[in-house]
Amino acid sequence: MTQPYADRVETRQAIINACLKLNADGINQGTSGNVSLRAGDAMLITPSGVPYEDMTPDMIQKVPLSGDPQRQGPLRPSTEWRFHQALYTAKPEIHAVVHAHPVHCTALAQNRMSIPAVHYMVAAFGGHDVPLAGYALFGGEELAQDVVHAMMDRHACLMANHGATVVGETLEKALWRMGELETLARGYCLSLSIGQPHILDRFQIEEALAAFTDYGRRD
Ligand code: 13P
Ligand code: ZN
Repeated sequence: MTQPYADRVETRQAIINACLKLNADGINQGTSGNVSLRAGDAMLITPSGVPYEDMTPDMIQKVPLSGDPQRQGPLRPSTEWRFHQALYTAKPEIHAVVHAHPVHCTALAQNRMSIPAVHYMVAAFGGHDVPLAGYALFGGEELAQDVVHAMMDRHACLMANHGATVVGETLEKALWRMGELETLARGYCLSLSIGQPHILDRFQIEEALAAFTDYGRRD
């Protein structure tokens, strides 16, 4: 699907498909996590606490990009609409936000650890590390501030004692990033368990960042 997204049934279904894929891939589970797409001056976001298998396009909630959500029927937008909204405001180039509780990302975040440059793939997240956002209660404005602050010049962050969030220029890019982030976190946990991982230096990451500008391009 190409961006910019419009509020159509296919766009809403793409959000549901993304949630189902995250759970099927073992990156998320239960009703944890939430997915949104920018659609004009609003975002389309998963409803709060609804199992993804039961979700239908009409349940997807439309929330303005500034101000509070208007009530639409019996469901509420994801409790995390504040950090989705804050990310769209802070990052005009993004069209998708994906939040999940992947086990290895969360294990690191429970130890209040960020991910240093243990693999060149860290560059896929925009810099020399994947930062850790501070802890605040889920769904609150404080958490929204913490997430935006951590992701100011990154495409991803871990969230202390909670999970992880990524953004993308498209939904596909954001889903790809979430999968790569959990793989990176899993590798980091494993290397910590068998020894002392080596950290790539700034030059090596600068090089990888430059190489990533062309990565996957088709021309
Ligand atoms: P929602 O079901 O409200 O989206 O909450 C899930 C979650 O992960 C909260 O951080
Ligand atoms: Zn969460």
